[in-house]
Amino acid sequence: MEINKVISEIEFLSKKLPFEVSLMEICGTHTMSIGKNAIRQILPEKVNLISGPGCPVCVTPINEIDQIIELSSLKDVIIFTFGDMLKVPGSKTTLFKKKASGSSIKMCYSPNESLKYAIENPDKKVVFLAIGFETTAPLTATVIQNALKNNVRNFYIYNLHKIVPPAIHFLLDKDKNLNLDAFLCPGHVCAVIGSKPFGFISENFMKPAVISGFAPLDILESILIILKQILAGKPETVIQYTTVVKENGNIFAKNLINDIFDIKPSYWRGIGFIENSGLFLKNKYCYFDAKKVFDIKSINSKEPKYCDCGKILLGEKKPFDCKLFASKCTPENPVGPCMVSSEGTCAAYYKYERFREK
Ligand code: SF4
Repeated sequence: MEINKVISEIEFLSKKLPFEVSLMEICGTHTMSIGKNAIRQILPEKVNLISGPGCPVCVTPINEIDQIIELSSLKDVIIFTFGDMLKVPGSKTTLFKKKASGSSIKMCYSPNESLKYAIENPDKKVVFLAIGFETTAPLTATVIQNALKNNVRNFYIYNLHKIVPPAIHFLLDKDKNLNLDAFLCPGHVCAVIGSKPFGFISENFMKPAVISGFAPLDILESILIILKQILAGKPETVIQYTTVVKENGNIFAKNLINDIFDIKPSYWRGIGFIENSGLFLKNKYCYFDAKKVFDIKSINSKEPKYCDCGKILLGEKKPFDCKLFASKCTPENPVGPCMVSSEGTCAAYYKYERFREK
């Protein structure tokens, strides 16, 4: 369908809505696309978009950041990380500042770079920061399999992987004041695990859930599907991103995850423990687990004063509601993780929305 037609149909259907609707996107790439393409401004007033906990860097606990910073000071340890993690503030400093002051921290685009470095430098202890949702977990699983195959004994994983459906379950269980009416589900995550794990949204909670692509037309089409379902009173979990997502996902990638990880409760920054929401290395791979191998003292870190990231991740506040937004907290000098990550809600609002909506 043409984009103008989709917009007109959304406009038309929104007039029939008996109440304002709130739709939550649970993917930082959606948050960025919504901001970049001014989708919030295109939508009728009755259709409200809320960003949820869709940024893996943002939900990584601050004490883990502090522990990684500690780890980077150990002799012969080399940390490999994706770029987003470098600027996330810990209690006192960042990996970026540690790197500038001489710690061995390298940015990479793939875990394979860290394994290659470990093979070429057997006297070093190479730690890869494994972060992300179901999308990146198969990469971590593959690199562990490759390390096993090559009998690499100086390679470790600092594991921070989390999974998305339990977080949505948690939000729906908790949703008293927020009144979420529907979800835009993450297309990339669903490319791996399929649409089935999101079926509970419509089956148990009677809310529409659409697995959406990332282009403006994808997102608008998904919103149109949601409005039709709300008006018909027939919530379903459906795939809009049909070119990429299948009901059962990618069996190969799912098997990789299941071979390497167990699912256990995990702590989400700003939210707390969520049942069955973390991927943890199976015991038989514990010699790859940096948290077990290295003597890192556990740190009781404090959240930065006045930072509202927790409430923003829960969709209870918007970045404009934080009194530090765009004053003391900017992408150059971030206070909280939501301003750092390329998928963070505050970063998206800072880049795209701050002059449009106040
Ligand atoms: S603007 Fe900065 S301090 Fe405020 S919630 Fe966002 S990241 Fe935290």
